[in-house]
Amino acid sequence: MPKQNPSNRYLKNFVEKLHKLNTIDVELPNSNVSEIVKNPKKYAFDIVVKEFTKNLPSMVKAFELGQKFAMQNLRIVYKNNKRFYPDDEQVPEKLPDAYAIGRNNQACNNCIFFIGGDYCKKWKAEVRGKYWCKSWKGE
Ligand code: SF4
Repeated sequence: MPKQNPSNRYLKNFVEKLHKLNTIDVELPNSNVSEIVKNPKKYAFDIVVKEFTKNLPSMVKAFELGQKFAMQNLRIVYKNNKRFYPDDEQVPEKLPDAYAIGRNNQACNNCIFFIGGDYCKKWKAEVRGKYWCKSWKGE
């Protein structure tokens, strides 16, 4: 058996570990060696495109699940008629009932009433950037 140089051995071990830790199955585009040698960059690009196309639906699904998870975990909860953020800090009572998690790219952090990183000058109360109310106004 030919002796492997240390770099090749390291790379082989690394790839084997990656395979064990992930269920990655990289599909190689059909091509012959002489075509690859003529234009290796194109071959690498084809692999990336193929993998990206194959995995795009999973990435979109993961993004949607992440958004849903965030929405559920940023929801304001009521306790004894008072509103609380998920970390148990009370929501200032001055804020309107509609104050909730931001949506459709509208949130306090891109509202004209939001100043100083945590204050709403419309309601004169501290707010959080990812939340929103019906008075939201963009620039
Ligand atoms: S007006 Fe509403 S959306 Fe705008 S900063 Fe105040 S609470 Fe947030």
